[in-house]
Amino acid sequence: MLGRLTQAGWQVTGEPEAADLLLVNTCAFIEPACKEAVDTILDLARLKEADPDKRLVVAGCLVQRYGEDLAKDLPEVDLFVGVHDFPALPELLARPAAEGALRLFQGAAPYAYGAPEPRYAATPPHLAYLKIAEGCGHRCTFCIIPKLRGPLRSRPLSTLVAEAESLAAAGVKELILVAQDTTAYGTDRAGGPGIAKLLRELARLDGLEWLRLLYGHPARITPELLETMAAQPKILPYLDLPIQHGHEEVLRRMGRGYTRQDILDTVRLIREVLPAATLRTTVMLGFPGETEAQVEALADLMEEVRFDHLGVFLYSPEAGTAAERLGPAVPRREARRRARLLKALQAKIVKARLKALVGTVQLVRVDGVSPESDYLLTGRLAGQAPDIDGQVYITAGTGRIGEVQAVRLTRALPYDLLGEIVEEGETG
Ligand code: SF4
Repeated sequence: MLGRLTQAGWQVTGEPEAADLLLVNTCAFIEPACKEAVDTILDLARLKEADPDKRLVVAGCLVQRYGEDLAKDLPEVDLFVGVHDFPALPELLARPAAEGALRLFQGAAPYAYGAPEPRYAATPPHLAYLKIAEGCGHRCTFCIIPKLRGPLRSRPLSTLVAEAESLAAAGVKELILVAQDTTAYGTDRAGGPGIAKLLRELARLDGLEWLRLLYGHPARITPELLETMAAQPKILPYLDLPIQHGHEEVLRRMGRGYTRQDILDTVRLIREVLPAATLRTTVMLGFPGETEAQVEALADLMEEVRFDHLGVFLYSPEAGTAAERLGPAVPRREARRRARLLKALQAKIVKARLKALVGTVQLVRVDGVSPESDYLLTGRLAGQAPDIDGQVYITAGTGRIGEVQAVRLTRALPYDLLGEIVEEGETG
């Protein structure tokens, strides 16, 4: 959206008070996300009340999910644009204001990315996300996303390579591939290239140093993908596999399409081909019918696999999902208690992993000056994705933002590390 708007002459400011146009891009996959989006819209509506010349636009999944209700309840919003209509945003904004003009756009057909999209970076200059596909072909019973985003539509390989090339030319060194399911890339095009081929093509581009794949599906980790990762040093041996649960019956009821044994087999394969792989996952507690014994089975699996990073979430009952018919969710309080237990278990696993790194020298990509202190730099190991994993606080030495530096790790915090840059010529 920002790429298209800046191309049409708009300038971006992070100061809502100074803006002519207030744009809220929303998430709506679970209730807390909807609430956060609505609170933000109401905050900005207050600014508009003080300055009625401002225009307020709401975009994204919340519009796709609840557009008609929002249009009724929020008369202060000038325009609602769902997930398929964002390309038309500059055009819609250029229309002269007219009494009774259509305000709600939810898309007649799912938007398919064609030509390379113009980009406006909202990330530090050395880092960018590349959306490789839109929509999802799975039907997990708890998830509303396929209804909101539509079926899987992979972007053509040539447009992704062209977009990545222009990002690299602009100074991007770390490119993070995202989609609802990145490992399904290309499976909607008969005979088309898959994720391994896309990664190989991107790895050829000059300037890009790290390629990272997020949001894989545990059932789609193939030997070809792992061997491609092993053969290309630019493709980080980092696998983000949201397993969601570790008990057979819960996985079946979630409609995830794999078993507990499949997860264990996949992890074994990953570690055979990529012994240094970093594994990230998410798990969900409180799914309808989940028993204590099933949570214990999940805890056992966590102990066996020892994921490097693990996010714990609570099941959120969502209108319009199949899980609604699977009975009531585990009471919130009990689900929270289960989540606390698993978080404590993961904290122990992470502590041991981080402690083992203290005293070693590792390559760290410097992201910038820490918001906590001008005297601290922050950076990340190859096994740490921005915003979701821990990071390295650099307490001594001079680092260049965006560059990889050798850092001696000096201390482990619960999820982060401290370290000092190893200056050139320093030994040890
Ligand atoms: S794979 Fe992810 S996006 Fe697709 S239905 Fe399942 S949870 Fe939702």
